[in-house]
Amino acid sequence: MAATPINPAGPRLLLRRMREVMASPQPPQQKLDQMVRVIANNMVAEVCSIYLVRAGDILELFATVGLNPEAVHKTNLRVGEGLIGEIAARGVPLNLADAQSHPNFAYRPETGEDIYHSLMGVPVIRGGRVLGVLAVQNVTQRLYTEEEVEAMQTVAMVLAELVGSGELIDPSEVHEGTFAQGHPPKIDGVVLADGIAIGQVVLHEPRVQVTRLIAEDEAEEGRRLDAALGELRSSLDNLLDISDLGIEGDHFEVLETYRMFANDRGWIEKIRDAIRGGLTAEAAVQRVQVDNRVRMAKVSDTYLRERLSDLDDLANRLIRHLMGLHSGGGPDMPEHTVVVARNLGPTELLDYDRTRLRGLILAEGTPSSHVAIIAKALGIPVIGQVEGIVGRVDPGDQIIVDAMTAQVFLLPTQDVVELYEEALALREQRRLAYAQHRHLPAVTRDGVDIALLINAGLLVDLPHLEESGAHGIGLFRTEFQFMVGATFPRHEAQRELYSRVLDAAGDRPVVFRTLDIGSDKVVPFMDRPREENPALGWRAIRMGLDRPALLRYQLRALLAATPGRELRVMFPLVANVAEFLAAKSILDKEMRRHVRVGRQPPSRLLVGTMLEVPALAWQLDALIPSVDFVSIGSNDLMQYLFAADRGNTMLTDRYDILSPPALSFLSMIIAKLHGAGVPVSLCGEAAGKPLEAMTLIGLGLRSLSMTPSSIGPVKEMIRSLDVGKLRAYLSTLLTLPDQSLRGKLTNFARDHGVEL
Ligand code: PEP
Ligand code: MG
Repeated sequence: MAATPINPAGPRLLLRRMREVMASPQPPQQKLDQMVRVIANNMVAEVCSIYLVRAGDILELFATVGLNPEAVHKTNLRVGEGLIGEIAARGVPLNLADAQSHPNFAYRPETGEDIYHSLMGVPVIRGGRVLGVLAVQNVTQRLYTEEEVEAMQTVAMVLAELVGSGELIDPSEVHEGTFAQGHPPKIDGVVLADGIAIGQVVLHEPRVQVTRLIAEDEAEEGRRLDAALGELRSSLDNLLDISDLGIEGDHFEVLETYRMFANDRGWIEKIRDAIRGGLTAEAAVQRVQVDNRVRMAKVSDTYLRERLSDLDDLANRLIRHLMGLHSGGGPDMPEHTVVVARNLGPTELLDYDRTRLRGLILAEGTPSSHVAIIAKALGIPVIGQVEGIVGRVDPGDQIIVDAMTAQVFLLPTQDVVELYEEALALREQRRLAYAQHRHLPAVTRDGVDIALLINAGLLVDLPHLEESGAHGIGLFRTEFQFMVGATFPRHEAQRELYSRVLDAAGDRPVVFRTLDIGSDKVVPFMDRPREENPALGWRAIRMGLDRPALLRYQLRALLAATPGRELRVMFPLVANVAEFLAAKSILDKEMRRHVRVGRQPPSRLLVGTMLEVPALAWQLDALIPSVDFVSIGSNDLMQYLFAADRGNTMLTDRYDILSPPALSFLSMIIAKLHGAGVPVSLCGEAAGKPLEAMTLIGLGLRSLSMTPSSIGPVKEMIRSLDVGKLRAYLSTLLTLPDQSLRGKLTNFARDHGVEL
């Protein structure tokens, strides 16, 4: 059936009339009543109705012209029931010339709608939630044009503002409304840093609420759009220029895509069309953004989804330019803030006021990414890989981060909030109990002593040393000082940090790892080449050896910080003995120079290496004579062992450290080093997880370095463990063909009363 608009001037006129209705001083219900009359008139439809979602996913008829007026506030449909329910459930428009022949048609006698054949309905969406449905019907079999459907969607946007204002329905009920595309209010993700948080959403790149929807002057809106597009492009160019300097190297591709989108004619033309339809420039951008989101929800191809979500971000930026707003968290963060972002760099996390930041939810992210490591150090729970989270929340929404079971609860009901408040209180009690146990030794039931150390990198970590009762700092990531600063930390700043760390540690050991820059550890002020595979690229000790001035500069600061004290230096990402010896000889030379110029040397110098490149494990015999200690970096070691990028979300659950190949490999390394009397520790994320820590102790490790909040739970596990029994059991597992031994080891722990 051919679709020709019945009233070609309609859409513009309709918007103007809607503006008058919205601006009129009448009560909201009367506005709705007037709206349906205006729409029916304009669209030449016999029926126009508004259904709104009430608590419990019920769609209630709120206003109608054409249906039986007695049915208003009486007719209820479930979301998903009938055609109106289907529009609400799927969050997409329906345009049917013969509605009654549709399999989902549900007749409600009280409405008297049996005589109407055609139906066109659109969802009323705000912040990703379906708040209701706006529909028109005709007696004849009429197919509405695309322009008419679009006009209805624009009206639905205006209506969404009226509903969102809370004047029609209690805001708490609106918040319980159903979700576009049937999104459930509970979404699963992956735990990146454990813990629980209850708070209000702060969008990392906040979506702006557009309030001025209808334009006074079309030409002026066109000019505003042009100006904002100009600003948007130049702000992206600025970012790209910075990237050319290597500052945002990893984001180069993303920015390049953004720039492409910012010049995309199709996108800009759609926005101009919406302006021609009578919207303000910002409302026009938002209007096109809503369409884009609907497309996004339907697309399953990951690459395309990413691109569409880039376009979504870009639309947000453009709206901010149009409204003269700046991006960023802002000073008025709620007391209990949960930041929601697509992804976040470690430095961006640190930009937020840590006294108010309770949790973080990312659409991307992996457990060994550095944002996760920093969040752990700060005790901030993080859930990652929560698909589409950014589009599903509004700033200020209440949200629960359950980073124990990897669940996010959007707009939770009161009883759920109460449950989590209780869980939080319990965790606090446990934390206090751990604090009280901090002086108890980490010794197993069969009398094996385990040294528990913390991983640190910032001054904020130092109080944890005392609070956790740790034996010392097993890994001090010196690159963090570089990552969080705006400029290169000079000698004095480096020396000062190292001294303060040693002061805080007292007579407890501290292992300083030299700069581990590169891959995902981006240092803002350093020029770096673009690399095809940064994790396999020019990073860590490779940089230190190729640019020895940088390494020497740091070693001098370390020597200057340790007169008369013990200094432990460790080199990162050493792949073979030659690299270790080369780095060690630079250190020896600096030590000689230090003494030659009359400075007091450290009382003792211990030189160790990270073992995080598998090749080094096959050269232990050659390494042993010249190394004082070894620390296994399981985060990198596992990524290189399994050839699985530690930052790739698609691989997170694919390979397990608790598997025969990984555990056999670790067992070989530990046995060899122990056999030669070389102290060996493990400082990757695995050390801080009770089940993994139990297994590592079973393999023979007697020293583990972890995030400070893990010391309590790991110590509790150790004090309930019988290592002898575990060792015997483990030896039966290492030759199995299993993908993972996690289940078997969990069962062992349960059967033997090990506290996990
Ligand atoms: C590791 O790779 O396990 C490690 C501790 O180093 P980082 O996480 O800093 O790369
Ligand atoms: Mg590493």
